[in-house]
Amino acid sequence: SKSSGRDTARFFTPAMNARAQQRQQVESCLRHAIERGELWLAYQPRIEAGSGRTIGVEALLRWHSPELGAVPPAEFIPIAEESGQIVALGDWVIQQACAQHDAWRRSGLGELTVSLNMSAVQLRTSGVPEVLRAALARHQVNPAHLEVELTESTLMETAEETMAQLHALKALGLTLSIDDFGTGYSNLNYLNRFPIDKLKIDRSFVQQMLEDPAQLAIARAIIGLGHTLGLRVVAEGVERPEHAQMLHAARCDELQGFHFGRPMPPAELERWLRSQRPA
Ligand code: C2E
Ligand code: CA
Ligand code: CA
Ligand code: CA
Repeated sequence: SKSSGRDTARFFTPAMNARAQQRQQVESCLRHAIERGELWLAYQPRIEAGSGRTIGVEALLRWHSPELGAVPPAEFIPIAEESGQIVALGDWVIQQACAQHDAWRRSGLGELTVSLNMSAVQLRTSGVPEVLRAALARHQVNPAHLEVELTESTLMETAEETMAQLHALKALGLTLSIDDFGTGYSNLNYLNRFPIDKLKIDRSFVQQMLEDPAQLAIARAIIGLGHTLGLRVVAEGVERPEHAQMLHAARCDELQGFHFGRPMPPAELERWLRSQRPA
């Protein structure tokens, strides 16, 4: 009835209403984003610490909405996860990243590893191993050159069925890494049970490393733990040359961050890669 509607409305402050409206708007605009070509992937270089070579790139989703402008992933991804739209977005990311890998291989840019982010919602979707298998086959991507990044919290929420899903992804031959490691209340007992290959140290540790010796100690401990378990360790958020030096000295395997390169559109990344190479 009208009166109960009014009662309900009283529980919402204007700020809450504005936020709910914004969510609604994002969700409704996102519904057409794929078909209207509003999405694209930015690629950020990942550097091998020992050699300084660029060995891979991380694909990061970008959305330019004609109605809303550029919406950052931190804003639209949680909304897409709640609405279930993340599954279609995630499938699009898989297709796009594999197609790009194929294009780069054909253009002689070398065998870059492409990593993509996968949300917990998509991991739990039963079809995802098949979507990946089909995309790898269609674009002739060597599975060894594809990485899937899952956040620590995604894995910690994991039930037995998700564990089976992880094994199905591993069976495709791709690399699995734990993103944002150190922030998700890690149950270290689980670490040994996941079929994973890599840890990505969360950028919060890296960014406070210079000022706070405790953060440096944690970063070192994560590197040591990863190596003990036979995992490669990547640091993200490397913004300063000192970060890179310290992480290299601590035997971190791979480095990623604004110090080396920002996430770039594909054409810009290609120019950047060519400029890194001796002629
Ligand atoms: P993430 O996976 O941890 O990605 C790294 C984020 O850190 C990116 O933000 C990147 O631009 C930023 N970054 C890289 N280097 C530096 C640095 O040196 N300093 C600082 N301050 N930041 C740096 P972005 O692109 O805004 O993405 C935010 C988050 O959105 C990602 O965090 C990831 O959780 C999510 N995301 C992005 N693309 C996708 C996607 O395709 N699928 C899913 N499920 N999530 C995605
Ligand atoms: Ca990531
Ligand atoms: Ca991360
Ligand atoms: Ca993150």
